[in-house]
Amino acid sequence: MEGEIIIKRPIIGILTNLLITEGGMFPGMERVYVNYDYVQAITMAGAVPILLPVISDEQCIRKQIEFVDGLLLSGGCDINPLLYNEEPCRELELIFPEVDEHQLAVARIATDLGKPMLGICRGTQVLNVAFGGTLYQDVLQVPTSIKHTQKTQRYVPGHTVNIVQDTIISRIFNKKVILTNSFHHQAVKDIAPGFIVNARAEDGVIEGIEKPGEVFTVGIQWHPEMMAGKYPEMMNIFKQFVAATETTMS
Ligand code: MN
Repeated sequence: MEGEIIIKRPIIGILTNLLITEGGMFPGMERVYVNYDYVQAITMAGAVPILLPVISDEQCIRKQIEFVDGLLLSGGCDINPLLYNEEPCRELELIFPEVDEHQLAVARIATDLGKPMLGICRGTQVLNVAFGGTLYQDVLQVPTSIKHTQKTQRYVPGHTVNIVQDTIISRIFNKKVILTNSFHHQAVKDIAPGFIVNARAEDGVIEGIEKPGEVFTVGIQWHPEMMAGKYPEMMNIFKQFVAATETTMS
């Protein structure tokens, strides 16, 4: 219709995790879950969130990805270190091989299909491992590391992050230093070929990576979806991600 404003509403697939509850009516029951903060952030950014459950069939994973305009790789538990050729250290926490298998396949297939990706916390680590990088299984492996698992409300800024200039993240924040929350005990060690570092904590720990190129492929170690309600600049990450999906959506 003439004069009608067409609002694009990209569909963002949010990767889910498994959760095992010990109490309640079904102890040991495995549930597919995602924190509601991600759903709210994607909705606030003007896109339509859908949840992509953990599955293993590669043809079906490809269908999941073809269905969406972009992918949010959410936070979650540890990544199996065998996937980057390391034995487990004593500090390694909960892993779910099914979740690793699904998410690593998603990262690779989404890249093949040219779909924008935003990785948050574990999602950053998934991007790195999927393309040949390695992780600190525990940030204590960095001898001078500061505290990266803060004991405060989830929206509270926990430490400073230095932004690397001339990166997507530097254009989103337009600042050299920001304050972020921090709820990770793992971190990127050797960065995957083709990626660059876009943010670091004062102790040198990598707080973000991205892949220079046509398709928005960005990972950050903090949780902007938990801060966006009180710190509107954190919403800009989701807005820029959604805007990037609008330029690539069919
Ligand atoms: Mn941190």
